[in-house]
Amino acid sequence: MSYVKGLRCRECGKDYPEQPVHVCEFCFGPLEVTYDYEAIRRDISREKIAQGPPTMWRYRDLLPVSSEKVVDLGTGFTPLVRADNLARILGLEELYLKNDCVNPSYSFKDRVVSVAATKALEFGFETLACASTGNLACAVAAHAAKAGMEAYVFVPSDLEQGKIVGAAIYQPTLVAVDGTYDEVNRLCSELADRSGWAFVNINVRPYYAEGSKTLGYEVVEQLGWRTPDQAVVPIASGSLFTKIWKGYNELVKVGLLDKVTTRMFGAQAEGSSPVATAYAAGTFTLRPVKAKTIAKSLAIGNPADGYYALKVMEASNGGATAVTDEEVVEGIILLARSEGIFAETAGGVTVAALKKLVASGALRREGTTVAYITGNGLKTQEAVIDHIAQPLHIKPTLRSFEEELARRPELAGVAI
Ligand SMILES: *Cc1c(COP(=O)(O)O)cnc(C)c1O
Ligand SMILES: [Zn+2]
Repeated sequence: MSYVKGLRCRECGKDYPEQPVHVCEFCFGPLEVTYDYEAIRRDISREKIAQGPPTMWRYRDLLPVSSEKVVDLGTGFTPLVRADNLARILGLEELYLKNDCVNPSYSFKDRVVSVAATKALEFGFETLACASTGNLACAVAAHAAKAGMEAYVFVPSDLEQGKIVGAAIYQPTLVAVDGTYDEVNRLCSELADRSGWAFVNINVRPYYAEGSKTLGYEVVEQLGWRTPDQAVVPIASGSLFTKIWKGYNELVKVGLLDKVTTRMFGAQAEGSSPVATAYAAGTFTLRPVKAKTIAKSLAIGNPADGYYALKVMEASNGGATAVTDEEVVEGIILLARSEGIFAETAGGVTVAALKKLVASGALRREGTTVAYITGNGLKTQEAVIDHIAQPLHIKPTLRSFEEELARRPELAGVAI
């Protein structure tokens, strides 16, 4: 059983029953899942959630699935880490990092796919598919393996090795397309119409997108049932950004929270920043770009939810910024050396944007700030390999170690 009422067009408000569709047939607006919040309010409580599993499925009352058994790799309820070292460096009063690097396929995409795969099975699909910037390919392949489904995953052919291997290991049919993500996505939209497959981010996108709300719920629960005052979130399509906001606000609707205090800030890489660019220009009209950045997981030039992300920034008195590829690398290294978390390029974008937003005064130094770190650095080693120290290379003798130390003037102060 679920509390879903159906789907509703975000533009014209037309209602649809639960089906594997994602655009309104009248106005082509995107469809979104609607719920019976009154019924949820009667049944849900903080105690009930606390007794649930230590995964994203502790919030299943707020997710659009009705099956008893969900496709679950143990995703979610990831650590919310108090980051005092990084806070001190950046000049923030109270900073937390939501560490989604540690999900089963090493990114937050496991959240959306866990919901999408469960829903695809409910609809009777046998094949799970996606157009991916990388992490989604890994998550779809892993969940299809667990669910015993076929998998077809389409990625741009210039993807990082860690994401190719990180998807291929689960034995999907992996298709590398000579083109940008936006071209891969267009191809997959055509395929979704004729293939009879569940493309998680196309024909079952309304359900898929709901999985990201759990990144809102978890932070609120882990902060002791309050929202952060400021949140910094990386933006590709803009779905994650809008759904974290939806998640915070739903907790008010179902009576688990009094109010949402959060200002929502979006982080993009300069080579793929249509949302941050529109924000800076004070417009809600996005101009698509040909994306080019080392933050490949965020390289979407024509973001489907970009307009709604801008609306969230307006409603929450937030903002957005874009950072250079050099700042992305610095962000990854700063996060690693200050907090011991190795994030992928999207994490570098988030940390660099956090730094920039504090410096510009857009982010306040006071209050509680949460930065969402959404993917694991072992998948994007190419980005940092030329920016880290080579190991000391020695023979297995004390003398060799001492000689090597002496040869390295930068280690002169080290005494053993
Ligand atoms: C996909 C992705 C995002 C952003 O997702 P959208 O919902 O498309 O904005 C952020 N971080 C990582 C690591 C991702 O893989
Ligand atoms: Zn419509």
